[in-house]
Amino acid sequence: MGDCIFCKIARGEIPCRRVYEDDEVLAFHDINPVAPVHFMLIPKLHLASLADVKDVHAALLGRMLLLVSRLAKEQGLDNGFRTVINTGKGGGQEVFHLHIHVIGGGNIPPMVRRG
Ligand code: AMP
Ligand code: ZN
Repeated sequence: MGDCIFCKIARGEIPCRRVYEDDEVLAFHDINPVAPVHFMLIPKLHLASLADVKDVHAALLGRMLLLVSRLAKEQGLDNGFRTVINTGKGGGQEVFHLHIHVIGGGNIPPMVRRG
């Protein structure tokens, strides 16, 4: 995907503050963090959103979730962390390349305020 900003980051055409990289995935710090630790894990393969994944991507998604836990610990989030995947316009997604936000290290409020 030529125009996709996260594909450009994955190809090294746009710089990022890298957290982790292997053949299939890349993790990098969010440019506009909402907490002291805020990084994202993306597949290098362009998948627009979680709504676009297929059975063939099951192993990749599984690897990503396992990595989230490992990288969160490596970033010092021993006490826990929040993972967020915004999906589609209705889910508040702004960059249409699948990414898992990993957020923590501060006072994380309840995700949904009730009443
Ligand atoms: P979402 O709303 O889930 O699509 O999240 C997109 C995220 O990408 C936002 O938190 C942005 O701050 C982040 N972002 C956008 N451009 C960059 C960039 N060049 N480097 C790092 N993070 C970025
Ligand atoms: Zn992309």
